[in-house]
Amino acid sequence: MALLVVGSVALDSLETPFGVREDVLGGSATYFSTAASFFAPVRVVAVVGEDFPEAHVEFLRGRGVDLAGLERRPGRTFRWSGRYEFDLNQAHTLDTQLNVFADFRPELPEGFRDSSHVFLGNIDPELQLRVLDQVRAPRIVAADTMNFWIASRRAALLEVLRRVDLLFVNDAEARQLAGEHNIVRAARAILSFGPGAVVVKRGEYGALLFAGSDVFASSAYPLAELFDPTGAGDSFAGGFMGYLACSGSLDASAMRRAMVVGSVLASFAVERFGLDRLRDLGPGEIQARYAEFRRLAHFDDLDVDVLSVLPQG
Ligand code: AMP
Repeated sequence: MALLVVGSVALDSLETPFGVREDVLGGSATYFSTAASFFAPVRVVAVVGEDFPEAHVEFLRGRGVDLAGLERRPGRTFRWSGRYEFDLNQAHTLDTQLNVFADFRPELPEGFRDSSHVFLGNIDPELQLRVLDQVRAPRIVAADTMNFWIASRRAALLEVLRRVDLLFVNDAEARQLAGEHNIVRAARAILSFGPGAVVVKRGEYGALLFAGSDVFASSAYPLAELFDPTGAGDSFAGGFMGYLACSGSLDASAMRRAMVVGSVLASFAVERFGLDRLRDLGPGEIQARYAEFRRLAHFDDLDVDVLSVLPQG
């Protein structure tokens, strides 16, 4: 099993109520591949500029990420700056500088075309389609998107949705894409556009998986340390897809476990700024938090008929 991701590798400037950081390593492909690398070999297709520090390349390589698809181009690296209010659920984009990303035309190295699991990170849907055209016979293709593309590239995005198995969106994006306020109806509308499943991420309220007629809810971990939500969505997707690639299964139980693994990785990502927490995370901590999620969601034993206390009839 090999997991392919296309997305941004960025230098982020972040402002949260707890502090400010400038030009730190970020980007959708970076968070995704760091989270996924705990579970499966990851292949990255992305572009950086001449100013991108070699230490960041070394970090990703050190995580076992295959960087044969990481181009270094003349010019500056993609930069994103964002600010979070006291309510950390809402990110405000202060500035997006596409730089080398503006002319990015993803080309898959020959050795990447047999990838079994594919994640199309948040980029122009035209580029997501270009990547899809280059993979041979993936077992599962997932995509992410954002408000900007929903508003400006709707036709291409709908074409992506016809061709992918799974869409990751947050609740606001689901509403915008479906033109429907209610999340359950919005998810059903998205399924009618093509994908077999949709994951709706709801920040500190957890995430919902809609797969055919099946619905599964994963809570978010109730964290006392929450510093920077940047990358939570991509870390969720990285844990989710990494687990699927590692388990080799795509059945309903594997998808449910992937929801919890995604929630585990996202919960770590937000504990410190940028990638800081994922950098020093260990497998034992991931296992321990997965067990805590299990306890968190457990409320009775299936073989005990709790409601038999109610009067019959
Ligand atoms: P999220 O997981 O949604 O918080 O993603 C955060 C990451 O997305 C940041 O590290 C940014 O560098 C990256 N990002 C923000 N806007 C864009 C964009 N328009 N295209 C690609 N990547 C972006």
